[in-house]
Amino acid sequence: MDLTRLTSIFPKERVELLSEALARFQDDITDADPRIPGAAVWPESVEEIRALVCWAGENGVPLTPRVANQNVGGLAIPEAGGVVVDFTRMNRILEFSRDDMYAIIEPGVTQEQLKAYLEEHAPELRIGYSLAPPDTSVLLNCLMDGLTNYSLRIGSMSEAILGLEAVLHDARVIKTGAWGVGPVPYGRPPLPDLTGLFIAWLGTTGIVTRGVLALWPKHPLRERLFILAQDLDATFTMVKRLVRLEICDDLGVLTWPTGRMMLGVERPRIERVEGEPVCFVYLDISAETRSEMDGKIATARRVLAKTGAGGVLTGPLFVDDLVTALPEMVRYSDFPTDLDFLTKSKGGGMTWVGTYGPMSTIASCCQACMDRMVEHGFPPAVVCRAMKTGHFAVLRFLEVFDRNSPEEVARIRKLNLELFDLAIGYGYVQYKPPLSVLPRLHAKMDPETLRTMRELKKMLDPKGIFCPSNLGLID
Ligand SMILES: Cc1cc2nc3c(=O)[nH]c(=O)nc-3n(C[C@H](O)[C@H](O)[C@H](O)COP(=O)(O)OP(=O)(O)OC[C@H]3O[C@@H](n4cnc5c(N)ncnc54)[C@H](O)[C@@H]3O)c2cc1C
Repeated sequence: MDLTRLTSIFPKERVELLSEALARFQDDITDADPRIPGAAVWPESVEEIRALVCWAGENGVPLTPRVANQNVGGLAIPEAGGVVVDFTRMNRILEFSRDDMYAIIEPGVTQEQLKAYLEEHAPELRIGYSLAPPDTSVLLNCLMDGLTNYSLRIGSMSEAILGLEAVLHDARVIKTGAWGVGPVPYGRPPLPDLTGLFIAWLGTTGIVTRGVLALWPKHPLRERLFILAQDLDATFTMVKRLVRLEICDDLGVLTWPTGRMMLGVERPRIERVEGEPVCFVYLDISAETRSEMDGKIATARRVLAKTGAGGVLTGPLFVDDLVTALPEMVRYSDFPTDLDFLTKSKGGGMTWVGTYGPMSTIASCCQACMDRMVEHGFPPAVVCRAMKTGHFAVLRFLEVFDRNSPEEVARIRKLNLELFDLAIGYGYVQYKPPLSVLPRLHAKMDPETLRTMRELKKMLDPKGIFCPSNLGLID
């Protein structure tokens, strides 16, 4: 295929065809296999995307859109010889309604950009911020059903999408939700919800060009509290009690190796030091008034006292006190932040098995997976968050590794497949699934569900041009 024809759609300076320059698109931070594209383009308009989709369909060229390529799953690695569609130049905040609490944004809008915009134009409103780097896309995190520091309230981030605009395989442009009917894109009801055709499909059904994002009230007072825990069961018992009281905006649990990495230890040892907390819990609490805040903190203290008998739970420590004692903690006092101990580790590699699952099995799943990590010679680094008032939770088992060590990469791959198998036995399902787990995921899925997904893929992408490898739906 003659990819130089792309210059009839895009100006020359927004097309890259040189193989040396294209090598930087071939992989990501994980252990996923590299694939070198044949070209990369930087669109600036929906019309350019439509022309590109027509061209790709006529010529059978696969397209892989991306922004920061930080999905931690190899999901924006292009098809070999295909075209990378880099959305970093489509980064406009197109519309914003203070009254109806939404913003219409393009895929390239980043966490730091939207945060700065809201701080300037509507400091009383917020979005949820993920732990991903500040330059990652807000909309893609929502489309991938990711999670943020507002997920305890709303669940995974697709809940923040009020409507989408997408380019289909035949270059038609559709709008979903109320946006497809009237002038105000207030939400997804009441018509059949086409938004779901683009959520968690990982770029396989069409190219999303705009999203309507819900904004949420941001209360003026905010506290971040830390609790140190010596016992995993007691920790999760406390978490389950706390979430039902609805006093926290966010609640997370980080095991001791994650805590050590946050304090600058590049590769924490596998063994815990005598007396070191097994994990720490953080609670984000916000309030309109001081008395409301004091009441919420008093409630948290009561739960802590009730669950932490015998000194298994200590705290709460306030983030300001912690920062006084450990100044390096200041970067964790607000999100988004740069967790460079993960993204820029010495060995250059980071990966994880990220799962959503039920609260009822969280302690046993977490412990079993931590034990398995230790068996394979990796520190049991886990990040956990309660989601949607405790209807479910996230357990994320993460590893940093040396990309230049084939032995370590092989061990990581084996471990991660085992963690997938183990976690699913407790009802924990891996999200943003990388290629490596797809055969296992498909084997676990209800066959009719999988068949329907394949049929939908065929209907929405008959020529197989949209991220054909993702989700493994093309035979
Ligand atoms: C240190 C670290 C911490 C992280 N913490 C979190 C976290 O707390 N929560 C969380 O959810 N995630 C987290 N992530 C994962 C990830 O960074 C986020 O999900 C982030 O939002 C991805 O944005 P991106 O710009 O990197 O997307 P990319 O990786 O560039 O793209 C993601 C996917 O979207 C598809 N896509 C791109 N553009 C389009 C389009 N226009 N239409 C349709 N599909 C498209 C791509 O093909 C790909 O499949 C973390 C990552 C890192 C490195």
